[in-house]
Amino acid sequence: MSHQFGKHMPAADLPIRPGEPMRLSRRVWRVTCGNAGMMTGPGTNSYLIAGTDEWTLIDPGPAHTSHLRALQALSAAPIRRILVTHTHPDHSPGAAALQNRTGAVLLGRSNRTACGQDCSFVPQRELADGERITLGPETALRVIHTPGHASNHLCYLLEPDRLLFTGDHIIQGSTVLIDPPDGDMACYITSLERLLREDLAALAPGHGTLIARPHDALRALIAHRLRREAQVLAALRGGGPADLTALVAQVYTDVLPALHPLAARSLLAHLLKLQADGFAHQDQGYWSP
Ligand SMILES: [Zn+2]
Repeated sequence: MSHQFGKHMPAADLPIRPGEPMRLSRRVWRVTCGNAGMMTGPGTNSYLIAGTDEWTLIDPGPAHTSHLRALQALSAAPIRRILVTHTHPDHSPGAAALQNRTGAVLLGRSNRTACGQDCSFVPQRELADGERITLGPETALRVIHTPGHASNHLCYLLEPDRLLFTGDHIIQGSTVLIDPPDGDMACYITSLERLLREDLAALAPGHGTLIARPHDALRALIAHRLRREAQVLAALRGGGPADLTALVAQVYTDVLPALHPLAARSLLAHLLKLQADGFAHQDQGYWSP
């Protein structure tokens, strides 16, 4: 019996249909929550991994009753573990409610200090980088700490299938927001580079469809961020001290003005990285090289 993901590899463009379970491989299901929006794209993906007599859930999503019911209804055996990639409000708040109904163990990393986090998520224990969670006789998830989008962000590698659940470290169809101070651009790029060393067949993101050719996708994301960093540096060097509003308009010409307040957060993340590298300085909100 083969455990190669390729044997069971679905079409990467298996569509997103909120509420409708999608079987991605012999043991992996995706259910997308009906919370589509500007920050969530087509909605938050929850993934179920089928075991013989127990199932594992990655990212229950927000505490939407119908979504949590759909996850429970799909599981042919009790959900024994609920893992979360990070504690943003579209990923983890369903965990406590589902734990109440299933008695499952909650695993991940808490973050009750940074703003905008789901403080209701309290894991039974904090997962360590490199830790293996055994799901069955031949199935394990390896924990990979990937700070950047969130300091407590974890990816989970389903080892026999070489399928990486990426949460919001990598999403399909869009770049993720790096919002300082919990978001950190230097950490983000380092976390992307680290994944290049892993043997990966596909990425299962927190938003959007499966991503094939993971290493190509990782390299493209790193290149995109470094290109943006170069644009930020060029803007700094091309003019006098400038504030975030002026720099956003100058650098994010490819982004709709309505999204500039969000782009300003990522811009700040780039500037903080440049500052740490000694290429940017800040004085009372004005940035210069
Ligand atoms: Zn998300």
